[in-house]
Amino acid sequence: MENNHVSSLEINLKSLSSNLDYFKAKIHKSTKIMVVLKAVGYGSDAIILANALKDEVHYLAVAYADEGIALRNAGIRLPILVLHPQLVNLQKLIDFDLEPSIYASHILEAFLDLAETNNLKKYPIHLKLNTGLNRLGFLYKELNAHISALKASNNIKIQSVFSHLAASEDLNEKKFTQDQIDNFISESNDLIHQLDGKPPMRHMLNTSGIINYAARAQFDMVRLGIGLFGFGNDNYETSQLENVLCLKSIISQIHSIEKNQTVGYNRAFVSDKLMRTATIPIGHADGIFRNLGNGKGYVYIQNQKAPIIGNVCMDMIMVDVSSITCNEGDEVLIYKDKEHIIKLATAMNTIPYELITAISNRIKRVIKKY
Ligand SMILES: *Cc1c(COP(=O)(O)O)cnc(C)c1O
Repeated sequence: MENNHVSSLEINLKSLSSNLDYFKAKIHKSTKIMVVLKAVGYGSDAIILANALKDEVHYLAVAYADEGIALRNAGIRLPILVLHPQLVNLQKLIDFDLEPSIYASHILEAFLDLAETNNLKKYPIHLKLNTGLNRLGFLYKELNAHISALKASNNIKIQSVFSHLAASEDLNEKKFTQDQIDNFISESNDLIHQLDGKPPMRHMLNTSGIINYAARAQFDMVRLGIGLFGFGNDNYETSQLENVLCLKSIISQIHSIEKNQTVGYNRAFVSDKLMRTATIPIGHADGIFRNLGNGKGYVYIQNQKAPIIGNVCMDMIMVDVSSITCNEGDEVLIYKDKEHIIKLATAMNTIPYELITAISNRIKRVIKKY
């Protein structure tokens, strides 16, 4: 489908690269960087991002096989870790040179079988340990039962062993996090000792992990996601980062609304005076959540805040521009910058991750290089 919508998501590659440098400065020069591009690069565009970063990072990660296949089809050659492969997709991973996270016995056994049938030689796999998040991963004692099978297979090579923190951004959970790190250190040491070949890489830290625990837990690689977009999960860190995403649209129509008229579905907004409203071509189908309606969310027009009034429609929102001098066709900043996104996320009781990953694919992606 040809995309000639007027609403667009600007992706600033210069800011992206300067955010990458910011995180590089927090880790040793020798520590590798894996950039996590799941959910089409946090709702932006995984291919644009991968192309922009490919010479500056060592690894990519995606959540699901098809996300990795899309990167391969776009010509991306970096090694790609698939964090959450499914049994039915294991052959696809091999076909597209994607590296599985092996997080459970049934996945390990199936992959070892498949590696043999495909006659693979030292195909890289990544062992995922569950150290407390209780989402994906082996308990170490479960993994232990497979060590001789892992050592015996020439079809695979253990490229890394990794784990994920449950509360890396929450310093009230420091004790829990330190315990997760301690357990990962001792379990991975034991594993490496038992494997007694070339030791696999180790990695544990996401964005807030890099910010809070780089000293003890950066190991050989870190996994950077939301930080690249300028969100540090912490006011100070966020203020040090540059803005990458800007969601823009234009005013489609301006209305004069008499006192006591209503605006939008279910007549949710009632005017208490003569006012002006602007209709904007972006709605809940584009990721502008319905609970940003009725005054909770706002956009910027002529650098002034225009609150969303009434209910968010599927393809449109209406905003109050009574006190803003503006015209049909004028630019509207739906998400002006990261601070705006954080304010909207907070108003909705959620986190920036949820807002940016919801931006629909009918919004045009536009690269900005300066
Ligand atoms: C999403 C994800 C990351 C990146 O997390 P950010 O908080 O966005 O940096 C790292 N590791 C795993 C396993 C993930 O699922």
